[in-house]
Amino acid sequence: MAVPRNRHSNARKNSKRAHHAKKPRQLTVCNNCQTQRMPHRACPHCGFYSGRSVVAAA
Ligand SMILES: [Zn+2]
Repeated sequence: MAVPRNRHSNARKNSKRAHHAKKPRQLTVCNNCQTQRMPHRACPHCGFYSGRSVVAAA
């Protein structure tokens, strides 16, 4: 594994970390009940995923 020869300055470290900010959660709308849900997850409101019921509704 490569080993760093020289330390980076605080400014270089901080400018690298300028891109590490967390982005807001992306939400999609449920096709069945039109409430907001997390993408690629079953709807927490109606339990539908990909047009069919996969879990019991909450
Ligand atoms: Zn739903």
